[in-house]
Amino acid sequence: MDLITCLSGRLEEIPGHDFYRQNPPRACARVSPVVNRSWEPVRRKVQSYHGRSEIEKHARQSLSAAISAFNFFDELSNRPDLAEMAHIQAHRSGELVGQIFGCTAEHKDGEYWDVCALQLMHLRVGLSAGMNTVRCCSICSEEIDLCEHQLDELYTVIADRKEDGTCTACGRTSCNHAVGDSVDCYPGVLHRDVELNEVSMVRFPRDPLARLAGVQMDEETVTKILDGRPMGGTISCHRCIGPCGGFSYPFEGPDILKMDFL
Ligand SMILES: [Zn+2]
Ligand SMILES: [Zn+2]
Ligand SMILES: [Zn+2]
Ligand SMILES: [Zn+2]
Repeated sequence: MDLITCLSGRLEEIPGHDFYRQNPPRACARVSPVVNRSWEPVRRKVQSYHGRSEIEKHARQSLSAAISAFNFFDELSNRPDLAEMAHIQAHRSGELVGQIFGCTAEHKDGEYWDVCALQLMHLRVGLSAGMNTVRCCSICSEEIDLCEHQLDELYTVIADRKEDGTCTACGRTSCNHAVGDSVDCYPGVLHRDVELNEVSMVRFPRDPLARLAGVQMDEETVTKILDGRPMGGTISCHRCIGPCGGFSYPFEGPDILKMDFL
């Protein structure tokens, strides 16, 4: 909404981006100066707009929603069209975020981390935890195999907050349900008494949203990019504003790398 207001409703001013459909090879994955320039009017309007931070928040949320959708659809081998729609939307949102607000590597504790959400989406790796837990029902908190609720049945629940802050309707700690709301929901599975044994990096994680939040950049790359600037200087990402460089599948097979916790 803020973006629509900022552009006085003229959303056609946002440059088009259909070239992402072409999926060009990695070697061509760079941003054309013409594309960069086409964003200049929108960028200027947003930068000088009083509600800039709201636009940025919503733009980053839309990127993250498209990426989540892609991670879910990627598992549906019978509906590649849905994954492709989410892929294109992720590039559109990624370009908008990158062109207007920028995308930069994170610098913490002397290390740089590649946290470009769009780039990480193209790295088809997820995390699967090997653990022992007690599976509980999100509605009644009893063990899911013992309580009266069926996972495939809808129940009307009056939303409330449990002592630990979880919502009785959806089992989350942060959600939009207000105490007293009447909510139709399926029972969810909550894990109690978690004993974590190991984490594996896999192609298709059990939770499609369990993904890498960042990848540490190697020293050689950092030195090259900083090109004489001091450590801590900003490293800008340009990949999310350019054509798709394709997906990478760093690991083959179901279980590839195990990081033992115990
Ligand atoms: Zn980026
Ligand atoms: Zn139950
Ligand atoms: Zn809720
Ligand atoms: Zn892509």
